[in-house]
Amino acid sequence: MKHGEASSGKPGIPVSRIKGIGPVREKRLKKLGITCLEDALYYFPFRYEDRSNRVLISSMRPGDTVTLEGNVTRASLILTRRKRFTLFTAFIRDRTGQIKAVWFNQPFLKNNIKKDTRLRIFGKVEREDARSGIMYLKNPEYELLKEGDPPSLNMDRIVPVYAGTEGLGNRTLRNIISGALDLCGEDMSDPIPRDILKKYGYLDRKEAIRRVHFPDPSIPLQDLNNFRSRAHKTLIFEEFFLDQIAQAVRRTQFRKNTKGPELKTTPAVARIFQEILPFSLTSAQKRVLQEIIREIDSPRPMCKLLQGDVGSGKTAVALLAMVIAMENGYQSAMMAPTEVLAEQHFFTLRRFIGARYPLFLLTGGTQPLERKRITEQLSRRIPLLLVGTHALIQKAVRFSALGIAVIDEQHKFGVRQRARLAEKGSSPHLLTMTATPIPRSLAMTLYGDLDISLIDELPPGRHPVRTVIRREEARPRIYQFVRNIVNEGDQVFFVCPLVEESEKSDLRAAISLREELQNRWFPDLSVTLVHGRMRPEDKETTMLDFSSGKHQIMVATTVIEVGVDIPRARLMVIEHAERFGLAQLHQLRGRVGRGARQSYCILMKSLKCSPDGKARLEAMMRTHNGFVLAEKDLVLRGPGDFLGTRQSGQPYFRIGHLVKDFELLDLARREARKLVGNDPALSDVSNRKLYDAAMRRQEQFTS
Ligand code: ADP
Ligand code: MG
Repeated sequence: MKHGEASSGKPGIPVSRIKGIGPVREKRLKKLGITCLEDALYYFPFRYEDRSNRVLISSMRPGDTVTLEGNVTRASLILTRRKRFTLFTAFIRDRTGQIKAVWFNQPFLKNNIKKDTRLRIFGKVEREDARSGIMYLKNPEYELLKEGDPPSLNMDRIVPVYAGTEGLGNRTLRNIISGALDLCGEDMSDPIPRDILKKYGYLDRKEAIRRVHFPDPSIPLQDLNNFRSRAHKTLIFEEFFLDQIAQAVRRTQFRKNTKGPELKTTPAVARIFQEILPFSLTSAQKRVLQEIIREIDSPRPMCKLLQGDVGSGKTAVALLAMVIAMENGYQSAMMAPTEVLAEQHFFTLRRFIGARYPLFLLTGGTQPLERKRITEQLSRRIPLLLVGTHALIQKAVRFSALGIAVIDEQHKFGVRQRARLAEKGSSPHLLTMTATPIPRSLAMTLYGDLDISLIDELPPGRHPVRTVIRREEARPRIYQFVRNIVNEGDQVFFVCPLVEESEKSDLRAAISLREELQNRWFPDLSVTLVHGRMRPEDKETTMLDFSSGKHQIMVATTVIEVGVDIPRARLMVIEHAERFGLAQLHQLRGRVGRGARQSYCILMKSLKCSPDGKARLEAMMRTHNGFVLAEKDLVLRGPGDFLGTRQSGQPYFRIGHLVKDFELLDLARREARKLVGNDPALSDVSNRKLYDAAMRRQEQFTS
């Protein structure tokens, strides 16, 4: 295989070069995603079966699973009276005894298995009938034995079990992969540096691949099935390491300009914190603030991802970081994904800082005159704070002294947009924030170029949202409850799923739910509707109207998911809740429970709810910790659709598991950073191969 040719497409030898692969198999392999030699080598077994238990016939017991060898003494095909039902039986003898084997509906066996054929058999020993104690083998696997054959791929040892497909069973796959191993010659270079392999006792790449497919008999079956053999660990590490190398390279590229602002936090600044905040920080907020203070007091730009559950108080921390920048004479920027959110931040920040610093709001809707005023202010090198949407990264917006760029709900932005805000200054510090509770392991790979800080505590006095699961029959009672909430002066969300495939009918469902609520159940109240198909301006107006109390009930598709703070919303009813992912449900639920009084979330369960769906709803009832839920989601659904939507840049691992192999991921990350720290562009000759392999992987898996 050629690893030097990094750039485009899938490199390497096509599968058709492997012995025994013609056009038909080639097509079937493609279904499994196997088109080149490397794909075949990296098509790993998902479990192993111990077939090394070779026994003599005299010592077999009913219930044993055995491998045996012997000669056929008698073989016959029995046609039964039932149509298309045949029995083929053969008696096999070794030096200690004889046993019968029976195959159902495989009449063609008579062409292969004849008197005096020498066979190797693998199967389970059954009792013919309870009393007689006569034993036989039912539908065992068999192989014809000839002098001088190589050892079997399918029995007499620990065999790999693959996920096959129609017309491509395990025996064929074993053959193909064994053929692939024969083909990959001396030039199968190893991208991982020797010293790292040696340090952790890893195997070289080719050996690891060989042993994962055809393991050494001395390895405990359990280690293999847990992917904990040395060969497994080697390949898991390799995969994570290549990923982390790519991330680390990107990280240093971002940081290459090391003349960012050094922001000092003097005692005077700390006093300002006290004046600004109406509450004292939670200890988690304090810890994170300290981490930030340490990192921005350096010419090397901070590159942080601040994770914190909904309502954990990320904004306050971000504000203090921006205050530090302004007290050092720099400007600050905060970018949010929607106008509603940007506006909300604007008002929140106004409340905190009063008239202490100039504060501006810039969105798509900002009037030209105001826009001009903002541009002028930015060009004067005075401390100020600018909040806004994507509008902040337009060309016309020029900061003269940007000290820190904050990006809220950063997963809503692409890598490039994040970089563009940072480019607005000369290496400003970057603080990105997310309430999407991405498990640490996933965050490390999705955002391996960022340093992660975590607020893992809610401000005091919060009640967890009381969560229940209800079925359709309960609807009238639920509406009574809605009425009670409204009578107490509070507000209610109804959330409807909206997925791309059934977008039209989903939208219709949301519209008719609003009509039914408005006309039939709550004619005296105002029920409003907001959905993703509305014009942004209309959406904004509706949200603001709801937040100001003009409507009591809001029917919404998931647009309300992001960050909006409506303290009087005290009840959320989620329709077809089983259709949402856990992360999404948690985000949604975070929209209520922001005020002082007890809040509620009702998860409506449909009749055709899958067991997985049910498991998710029950997890929601039991757990209020977003990170616990996120880990659970990762286990239930896998990382592929973790965030509900396919994200660009989603890493994909063939053998490593983000939860189970977390330790190896962590190790890979540390080693990758160390290596890239010593040779930032991997320009050293000894690192070229590694660089190519990492970049190639990156391209292959992130498009
Ligand atoms: P999020 O992390 O979801 O962005 P916010 O920053 O919006 O959370 O904070 C949620 C609410 O909690 C806000 O009303 C904020 O003023 C309040 N808050 C934040 N930190 C504290 C604290 N330490 N003590 C009390 N209330 C706090
Ligand atoms: Mg927030």
